[in-house]
Amino acid sequence: MDLVTTIAGARARRKADRAAGRSVVLVPTMGFLHEGHLSLVRRAHELAASVWVSIFVNPAQFGPGEDLDRYPRDLERDLRLLEEERADVVFAPSAEEMYPSPQKVTIGYSGLEDVLCGASRPGHFAGVGLVVSKLFNIVEPDAAVFGQKDAQQAFLIRRLVEDLSFPVRIDVAPIVREADGLAMSSRNTYLSDDERRAAPVLYRALLAARDAIRQGERDPRAVEEILRQVITREPLANLEYAACVGQEDLQPPTRIDRPVLLALAVRLGTTRLIDNMTINPEEI
Ligand code: AMP
Repeated sequence: MDLVTTIAGARARRKADRAAGRSVVLVPTMGFLHEGHLSLVRRAHELAASVWVSIFVNPAQFGPGEDLDRYPRDLERDLRLLEEERADVVFAPSAEEMYPSPQKVTIGYSGLEDVLCGASRPGHFAGVGLVVSKLFNIVEPDAAVFGQKDAQQAFLIRRLVEDLSFPVRIDVAPIVREADGLAMSSRNTYLSDDERRAAPVLYRALLAARDAIRQGERDPRAVEEILRQVITREPLANLEYAACVGQEDLQPPTRIDRPVLLALAVRLGTTRLIDNMTINPEEI
């Protein structure tokens, strides 16, 4: 496994893959890897010969007052895990390498970035779009794997790739959960013992909403109310949003008669957790 930390080094390594006729798949991450990330790496092996993983805590996607400074980092451990997963290349640049001067170009999505997580994290998806565009231009992957865990991110990246004609096939892998249903996240390490015990409330809320749709509920407002009620019954949890939106447009439908995304953001103490579930009313 090769570790490259510079853009020039990544381009040279990419050239070697091309010369050897190896297709390349990229798994972008912010490191502090867990089973969710590793599932993306396993998926990546099915898509291309050379598996690249980027590890970069992207300052551009953190707002003022967010957790950029305390975001967990452990490159040595990440490298060990990726070695075990037979990754071929790890690209772990510094912030100075990625952003040598203040960035003037921004990525906008015509308002699609202002709903759900974007409503409370202004600028977040602009930062995500920027770093993903840069990574695609540096690594020139044939494919890239993202997690459904960050559903709005996956949605916007598909749009970015389509609108900017990036020649990259986007693959979205399912959410990996702890045994009690909590979606794996590097941020779970922030949780106190009590908060960790309360954290599966997000998954329980999604299951309750899914059950209601299974039983015939078709009013998105009523489904959102179920999500809200389950979360508010947990004393440690503070709801940021509970949404039932169309999978195709992230907008609230008048009725659930096409695939929907149930999405939640909840604060437990100072930790912000997100989770989601996709539901096709035709198939449940
Ligand atoms: P992050 O390091 O949090 O930026 O995540 C890197 C990639 O891993 C993103 O595409 C995430 O959606 C994905 N990911 C994070 N957690 C999970 C999980 N529990 N299951 C599946 N994918 C995940």
